[in-house]
Amino acid sequence: MNEKIILRRLDDMHCHFRTDLLLKEVLPFTAQYAGRGIAMPNTRPRAILTGDDVVWYRGEIKRALDEMPDRYSFEPLMTVEIRDNTTPQMIAKAHHAGAVAGKVYPLGVTTNSDEGLRDFDNERISETFRAMQDAGMLLLIHGELDRERTLVMKREEIFLPTLLALADKFPNLKIVLEHVSTRAAVESVRQLGNNVAATITAHHLCLTLNDVVGYGIQPHHGCMPMPKDFDDRDALIAAATSENPKFFLGSDTAPHPREKKECAKGACGVYTAPVLPQVLAEVFESVKRLNRLENFTSRFGAEFYGLPLNEGAIITLVKTEWVVPEQIGSVVPFRAGTKLQWQLS
Ligand SMILES: [Zn+2]
Repeated sequence: MNEKIILRRLDDMHCHFRTDLLLKEVLPFTAQYAGRGIAMPNTRPRAILTGDDVVWYRGEIKRALDEMPDRYSFEPLMTVEIRDNTTPQMIAKAHHAGAVAGKVYPLGVTTNSDEGLRDFDNERISETFRAMQDAGMLLLIHGELDRERTLVMKREEIFLPTLLALADKFPNLKIVLEHVSTRAAVESVRQLGNNVAATITAHHLCLTLNDVVGYGIQPHHGCMPMPKDFDDRDALIAAATSENPKFFLGSDTAPHPREKKECAKGACGVYTAPVLPQVLAEVFESVKRLNRLENFTSRFGAEFYGLPLNEGAIITLVKTEWVVPEQIGSVVPFRAGTKLQWQLS
């Protein structure tokens, strides 16, 4: 008999579901094993900025779910993008429309952040954060800053003072530092109050900068924040497997069609949705912490968001080797062409 792992359905607290055809292509993978997923708002051409956008995007996702041959018990959790011109009134409407969180992209740091937030500190945006705090909405942050003479590898670290200031100014605002990639960020989140948590991706648990540029340029490993040093990866693995409830799953699965990755200025993002629980099982097994996987994937995120745990359907992973396809639909998945030890049954 092959070894098995049974898990409560996952909560993936950071997903890029995109729109239109790509949405239909990628959503079934997450819906297969997750009970809920945070739908990130940086869609194009229509970004999710208002209550009306939230209603529209949830409708798109629900329609895509309805069109799937298999019925999954999957619920998208909606968000809005917070920009310089996001007002407390817009927050109230977005909250009313069902948004559970607002996402901040500092200007210019990642895919579709060309209209990102310029200033975290002015009085207008503080009113907006206060409105989120009062409504019980979470603030999700892409924690990097693009400054002059600052390497991409240092962008997360130079954001941390901003995180500290925000956590201090809004002690009742739940803040999630998304996709942490450095030991410094892990330490900051650990030391801050209980209103601050972090998501960790599967690919940051696996990759270092060597896997992006160390052996020929590997565009399908290119993402923001960039994977960093071995010591940073060690810190991420330790945090994810520590059973500290401040650290939970947010895969940042970010599909781009192959030609948008394999070109002169390739898009950032790793498409992990088709292999997510399988890769996580490998990582947790490698440090003999498989028994802690479910808390990371299916408990701590829900608890931080104030949601009940996913009940009912479960997922089963079976220890059977398989090879990840070189391409799935229009996108190259994480670990394409390599062997994985666990299979979703
Ligand atoms: Zn993202």
